[in-house]
Amino acid sequence: MLYQSFLIKYAEIGTKGKNRYLFEDALMKQIRHALKEVEGSFTVTKEIGRIYVKADGEYEYDDVIEALKRVFGIAWICPMFQTAERDFESVKRELVDYVRQVYPSGNLTFKVDSRRADKAYPLTSEEMNRELGEAVLDAYPEMKVDVHHPQVMLRVEVRTAVNLYSQMIPGPGGMPVGTNGKAMLLLSGGIDSPVAGYMIAKRGVKIEAVYFHAPPYTSERAKQKVVDLAKLVSRYSGPIRLHIVNFTDIQLYIYEQCPHEELTIIMRRYMMRIAQMIGEETECLALITGESIGQVASQTVQSLAATNEVCTMPVFRPVIGFDKQEIVDIAEKIDTYETSIQPYEDCCTIFVAKHPVTKPNPKVIRRSEEKLQEKIGEMVETAVKERETVMCR
Ligand code: ATP
Ligand code: MG
Repeated sequence: MLYQSFLIKYAEIGTKGKNRYLFEDALMKQIRHALKEVEGSFTVTKEIGRIYVKADGEYEYDDVIEALKRVFGIAWICPMFQTAERDFESVKRELVDYVRQVYPSGNLTFKVDSRRADKAYPLTSEEMNRELGEAVLDAYPEMKVDVHHPQVMLRVEVRTAVNLYSQMIPGPGGMPVGTNGKAMLLLSGGIDSPVAGYMIAKRGVKIEAVYFHAPPYTSERAKQKVVDLAKLVSRYSGPIRLHIVNFTDIQLYIYEQCPHEELTIIMRRYMMRIAQMIGEETECLALITGESIGQVASQTVQSLAATNEVCTMPVFRPVIGFDKQEIVDIAEKIDTYETSIQPYEDCCTIFVAKHPVTKPNPKVIRRSEEKLQEKIGEMVETAVKERETVMCR
């Protein structure tokens, strides 16, 4: 194995002042969680401004990089050599050895970039750059210095130990999950809602999810698909508790009592109400949907306003301004696309009207919902109470 350690650089969480340690600890927790999927044993530690991952033995390099690329809060993943000996002769020797192992073909332009966290170190950064550059040139005469556009930037950091690295692999950015409260994702089997969940998790929000199914109109297989999607999103967000709500009776009741062209809107309002009820019970502070303006009749601005009317929690709609293709691009990147396009029936499409209203009038919708008064309260309560809960990881 070429590398035994990785230096993890974080971006935004570096600016959190006094609370910074909370962000660092959350990031370390998420890194450990992600590495559980990878064969091998790893130790995650931190010092001021830096997080380190050290492999305790054999491991699969590509798997580690893949896992770390899914941890929100990571800006850069830097495979590195780390040496405990800080005297300058050792640093020199180690750097020359680093170049030999990482760039065996030589024949490259380079620059040395040294940093000292410890200002009492006997050499200044400039002195280190100069002397280390010379040492590399002495050992590999075919290499050349280029201070403006080097092909290789040899980074040397003198800290508790000495870190040597030159490769920087981009992480996903964002903030570590768990640093920004929890939200309830309305997760359907479609393309958009898994992407929406991913995007909010990326900002550090823990995700809980709710899925409405309508057996026997929707199948076990459709439900399994949603569980699969939650598992795929959980690779980024950490474990997701999925609440599966039986929506059949409510849907049939709306179908019996209300004008058919208003069905989708009224159904969507009940989904939001129920999601909110479960959200309140589970300490969620917001709802998340995969709605995008104008995508379908129930997502015109008028429909969104009519749906939103029943929500007291903030509703996050991270893909609201995205075109379908932009959402698909993210779905492909996060690997949910192939699962999302499996053709299983969705509870919304079963009772869907030929000509649904596209500009619902909230007053009219409210009046239609009055026709549900007799039984709807109890039905909603039952649906919430009898929900099934699945832990997806
Ligand atoms: P998606 O691709 O996410 O299914 P969509 O384009 O099919 O979205 P709609 O069916 O109108 O759009 O749903 C809009 C949003 O409502 C979804 O993104 C999702 O957040 C939520 N939603 C729809 N159906 C369900 C369901 N059966 N269970 C949970 N949430 C749902
Ligand atoms: Mg859908």
